[in-house]
Amino acid sequence: MKTNPIILGHGGAGYRRPGKKSLDVLAEALAAGYTILLNGGPGLDAVVAAITVMENSGLFNAGLGGVLQLDGVQRLDASLMEGKELKAGAVAGLEGFRNPIQAARRVMDTSHVLMTNIGGRRIAQGLARLPKPSKESLAKLKKLLLQEKEVAALYRRYFSTVGAVALDKSGNLAAGTSTGGTFAMLPGRTGDSPIIGAGTYAENATGAVSCTGAGEYILRRALAKETCMLMEGGTPATASRRALKALLCIGGQAGLIALDRNGRLAIMHTTEYLACGYAKGKRIQVQERARQVR
Ligand code: ASP
Repeated sequence: MKTNPIILGHGGAGYRRPGKKSLDVLAEALAAGYTILLNGGPGLDAVVAAITVMENSGLFNAGLGGVLQLDGVQRLDASLMEGKELKAGAVAGLEGFRNPIQAARRVMDTSHVLMTNIGGRRIAQGLARLPKPSKESLAKLKKLLLQEKEVAALYRRYFSTVGAVALDKSGNLAAGTSTGGTFAMLPGRTGDSPIIGAGTYAENATGAVSCTGAGEYILRRALAKETCMLMEGGTPATASRRALKALLCIGGQAGLIALDRNGRLAIMHTTEYLACGYAKGKRIQVQERARQVR
């Protein structure tokens, strides 16, 4: 029996209202993924295609638009997982390449799960390169660092990581996440996004989840895996609410998208906004926020 395909996407949880342009790119990303699903393609390909569109736009904190670390270098993170055989791939701190999600896809075809440093750069060979950060963005970083008080506030405001989860016609789930990290990170800092179980998780028996928000907290709760485990015997909505409430208890802020094999979905966030959307039943919907958990 064929399953009705669905794809959900997000463009980051945060406190800054997502602009129309970002929501338009999110719709474009969902359309790219959904076309693959409607043609019978794997959820994994749909997730990679959707995330690639957002990475290429420069409008999100991922790929081309990834924030600079404190030494003025963009180090990008991404992860990807499929729910049938639990294959996964990820890169952390990838320098110089525009589409870490495609590098993560390549890692999945090796015997490893997570590549950093020279391994990440080698596996990404031949993929599109990132331009050097502009003089303006370096100057902006320098200026902001002189205003210490504002840095803390910006850390809180600046998310806009991207992610997608999909259910394909064969009934298989997939999830992926891509980020530049958080604002004003120490060089070499890595958050939840490239960590399987924290930023991304997919298992046909439970569900698929992609997270966004303060990575240091998401890591400590293994939020994506926790949400999937709570889907066992629950719905994506009840599981997402419980997992986000537990995150709030340790002081974390986040948003997530969750989908199960029956096509039930949840989009929730503790932050004010979560650029998000879905494509299902030949309809694409995008919005600046969904259900808020307090
Ligand atoms: N979770 C990401 C990180 O901590 C940031 C985000 O979601 O915007 O690296």
